[in-house]
Amino acid sequence: MRAVVFERYGEPAEVREVADPRPPEHGVVVRVEATGLCRSDWHGWQGHDPDITLPHVPGHELAGVVEAVGPRVTRWRAGDRVTVPFVCACGTCPACAVGDQQVCERQTQPGFTHWGSFAQYVALDHADVNLVAVPREMSFATAASLGCRFATAFRAVVQQGRVAAGEWVAVHGCGGVGLSAVMIAAASGARVVAVDVSPGALELARRFGAAECVDATGVPDTAERVRELTGGGAHLSLDALGSPTTCAASVDGLRRRGRHVQVGLLPSAAGTTPVPMARAIALELELLGSHGMAAHAYPPMLELVRAGVLRPDLLVTSTIPLAAVPDALAAMGTAPAAGVTVAEPWS
Ligand SMILES: [Zn+2]
Ligand SMILES: [Zn+2]
Repeated sequence: MRAVVFERYGEPAEVREVADPRPPEHGVVVRVEATGLCRSDWHGWQGHDPDITLPHVPGHELAGVVEAVGPRVTRWRAGDRVTVPFVCACGTCPACAVGDQQVCERQTQPGFTHWGSFAQYVALDHADVNLVAVPREMSFATAASLGCRFATAFRAVVQQGRVAAGEWVAVHGCGGVGLSAVMIAAASGARVVAVDVSPGALELARRFGAAECVDATGVPDTAERVRELTGGGAHLSLDALGSPTTCAASVDGLRRRGRHVQVGLLPSAAGTTPVPMARAIALELELLGSHGMAAHAYPPMLELVRAGVLRPDLLVTSTIPLAAVPDALAAMGTAPAAGVTVAEPWS
């Protein structure tokens, strides 16, 4: 099969022929029809992820068709249209046993713990636990956008963040996950303040339902601006970028007893992130993490997509062939795209 491979961190990846994967005993091989490009892929390529061993094939936001099935899989057959959360769970550890597959103790992540989906085929373990059926009417490009950022944003806003209608929600960072969070919070009846440094990202945020937009390059203190716009601070605030600056601004922009949800990854290579804990105590803030979403939690989200309340399709702003992935991956370091780029390995 053809795949995007890199041999060394930070050096150009290339598209070349590699061996086809085989299905694990409890897993499947999926023919990849669409796979999203994500900032996590860039971090992995830069060597910021300790799970990766070289040479490596990145890619973790995928949708496609089951091609081959391991002997212990009971729920899936060749030809099924599927996607997966980026955290693939084992199904049997204590976390999985209580339904928290998103923090599985023996999780695998395609494109990190093993070769991923910037390839014509990808192997996925524990298919009965992790695969999600993609409805006929949903395109593969849209389905690919669900597994990482959209599902992550959904869990961050709805489950971890416990958004309520009428609340102010601040979203710091309007890349793929941030724009998804804007859309989901607005659809939940919240008033959204979107914060970013890119006018293009803020324009998309407004289109997806943000009531207020803050250009972080134009104000000395974004948290203060959020507190002004929201009459004292957001009820719920997300760092959807993942940086010490946006993390602190998110916490500082909350009102009393507000909830901060950390969604953007804070790479371990950058060290431990300082958090304004004095404010967390004085204002009784809640500080929460959010890490993907379990496959079994997808149906309510898919129902809102089916009903047209949520429109992940609008987040996909460009599709590229596999051959264009190495350059697109490199470009993420300097110019993070507004919206979502999806690669189609068979085009
Ligand atoms: Zn991702
Ligand atoms: Zn587990």
